[in-house]
Amino acid sequence: MSDLYDILIIGAGINGAGIARDASGRNLKVCVVEQNDIGSATSSWSTKLIHGGLRYLENYEFRLVRESLKEREIIKKIAKDIVKPIPFIIPHTPSQRSIWIIKFGLFLYDLLGGKSSIPKSKKISISSEIPNILKDNFKIGFKYYDLQVDDKKLVELNINDAKKRGATIIENKKVKEVFRQSETWSIKLENNTILNSKILINATGPWINDVLKNIIKLKNKKSIRLVKGSHIITNKLYKEDYALTLQNNDNRIVFVIPYKKKYTLIGTTEKEVFSPDNPKIDKDEIDYLIKTVNHFLKKQVNKKDIIDTYSGIRPLIEDFKEASKVTRDYAFDLNTKNKNTPLLSIYGGKLTTYRKLSEKVMSSLKPFLPIKNSKNWTDTKVL
Ligand SMILES: Cc1cc2nc3c(=O)[nH]c(=O)nc-3n(C[C@H](O)[C@H](O)[C@H](O)COP(=O)(O)OP(=O)(O)OC[C@H]3O[C@@H](n4cnc5c(N)ncnc54)[C@H](O)[C@@H]3O)c2cc1C
Repeated sequence: MSDLYDILIIGAGINGAGIARDASGRNLKVCVVEQNDIGSATSSWSTKLIHGGLRYLENYEFRLVRESLKEREIIKKIAKDIVKPIPFIIPHTPSQRSIWIIKFGLFLYDLLGGKSSIPKSKKISISSEIPNILKDNFKIGFKYYDLQVDDKKLVELNINDAKKRGATIIENKKVKEVFRQSETWSIKLENNTILNSKILINATGPWINDVLKNIIKLKNKKSIRLVKGSHIITNKLYKEDYALTLQNNDNRIVFVIPYKKKYTLIGTTEKEVFSPDNPKIDKDEIDYLIKTVNHFLKKQVNKKDIIDTYSGIRPLIEDFKEASKVTRDYAFDLNTKNKNTPLLSIYGGKLTTYRKLSEKVMSSLKPFLPIKNSKNWTDTKVL
């Protein structure tokens, strides 16, 4: 029999990578199998923010916002080379949220963030702070800060550290079949290699229920909705190092963010899809993003200005609300039908919460781990 792992993780997105790092730092024998390149799926198609998610406050998701803001502070310390605080301006639009609602939301955001090295929010005059960016009818705004991150790099740093701590990382190999034996899982890869593990973790992001059904051959307990989010990239629309949080008439938010010195990143849309494979932007999503930008900015954009686009799929836990109101929180499904071979499936989540999620994975697997008294450690060790 080949090596026996304590934990085998299917999927090296941010969640699989974070769990691999955390577990290998506890001296567990860990293997990660990724069908493509490390971090090449949802985790590199995000808006690239480590943020509390100001607008989740409208859905009363205080727990998620507080946890995310705490994580923002931790990630700023442990991944300092790949994150940067940037100011966001919310132009006030009288037809949208009132000044008092925004003020209250930002007050809560600052409060839930607790003691933080990131500056607090404030009301600003658009003409004094950013006179050249927005149309003249936008006079009042609000400034707050979040972190911009190199999302793919965050996955790679976690995987590299897991490797340094002894994890086996298998890239560009799809898990094809899985067999639950009485004492172990046998995991068959596309090149017919068989790996064995005590615990199996399904961290396949938007593929989670496909993998459960077609590879692990179990029925899913949680339903998910696949929601595509698309971005467009243009040459820099303005020189100032500010991001914009634009409120749309449909109550959604579009971010305009300085990107890689020369570019501007604009997103995102929300469109329900039925497959997690090869997401691409549609014409109506391009129109939506351009229309939003042109409503607010002095500089007008058209299709010819787009130099690249990308789309990602959010696997949102189904709770039968509109896409923008469905929770961005994560959930676990621990299957212990056979106590010797637990299976943990990870649903939903954000880049921002990957580290805390990984700690919680370790605590929910504690009864099944050979090392029981390991301490949480990833909040202080630099990546
Ligand atoms: C448009 C958009 C914008 C977002 N913006 C933000 C943001 O600004 N901030 C934030 O905090 N969060 C954001 N998120 C959320 C965040 O991107 C996701 O929560 C996170 O990337 C999910 O990571 P994951 O590891 O679960 O999934 P993924 O990154 O998709 O990883 C799953 C991996 O599993 C692999 N896999 C699947 N099947 C198999 C198999 N059979 N064998 C081997 N490997 C397999 C896939 O190839 C993939 O690499 C955004 C999401 C989207 C879609």
